[in-house]
Amino acid sequence: MTVASWTIGVDLGGTKLDVGMVDMSGKIVDRVLIKTRVKEGSKVVIQDIVAAIRALQAKNSEKVILSIGVGIAGQIDSKTGDVRFAPNLNWTDVPLQTELSKALKLPVYVLNDVRAATWGEWLYGAGKGSNDIICIFVGTGIGGGVISDGKMLLGCSNSAGEIGHITIDVNGPKCTCGNYGCFEALASGWAIARRAKESVVKHPDSGKPLLELVNGKIDDLSAKHVLELSHSGDLLARSIVQEVSVDLVAGIAGLVNAFNPQRVIMGGGIIYGYPEFIEEIRLGVSKRALKVAVEHLQIIQASLHADAGVIGAAAYARGVCNQGGNHG
Ligand SMILES: [Zn+2]
Repeated sequence: MTVASWTIGVDLGGTKLDVGMVDMSGKIVDRVLIKTRVKEGSKVVIQDIVAAIRALQAKNSEKVILSIGVGIAGQIDSKTGDVRFAPNLNWTDVPLQTELSKALKLPVYVLNDVRAATWGEWLYGAGKGSNDIICIFVGTGIGGGVISDGKMLLGCSNSAGEIGHITIDVNGPKCTCGNYGCFEALASGWAIARRAKESVVKHPDSGKPLLELVNGKIDDLSAKHVLELSHSGDLLARSIVQEVSVDLVAGIAGLVNAFNPQRVIMGGGIIYGYPEFIEEIRLGVSKRALKVAVEHLQIIQASLHADAGVIGAAAYARGVCNQGGNHG
């Protein structure tokens, strides 16, 4: 008989700190959601995580906590759980895993946030039951995770899944990574905002409705404005969305050819804001990718939405604890 146990999942982002207690079926049974005090530095943020977990433990004192998983936007040392670099939090070389397990006296596992979300979708969301999936999250940036033959691909230095930086157009715009024409530089939230700003300068007449949304302040234009206006039939917004759709197809067709997944799971704010992208991607990928690669392919929307990070970090912590190792 399996004894009931709970794990705690932490989704640590640049704006919010989401801490949830998760049961064995992947359901969040209690949670604490607070602002991340980025400006106060890593010590204060770590204290906030400890306090949130202690509050959950106190409220649920009858529940047995097995372990804690922490997903964070950044590069993680898979052996030590140190955060090597997390630009949203302004962290460099923070021993997060060591500090938390010392304070909480429980096993703690730190992993990249997008990888945590991939674990969540794989075990409890839209990837449930499949051994070959690619999760693609299109939000401010683009990130993802690849499960191949029932294993999360990690890479030799733990950076597998950085799909936002595959090159789509060698002559394309500059990316945050320093390269040009990356997937993220063409189809992410910040790329859509850049396209909108360029378009209204180039086409001042047809750009008026977009500019009106931000009271003429071009720097305030965001992807959200483009997607909203596209829904109401604005021609310029629709043409931007169309260009983004072409680049999404190009990137995803390449991934499908390379990894031959059974399911491509699409999540992130841009997809939730414009779910029509999924049908356009289905159609485009079926034409562009190799026939053998699309034979059994499903392209579907992620199902855990904002809960994926917490559920995934908790699921990861449970899996590592049960297997006694194997970081992801
Ligand atoms: Zn890049």
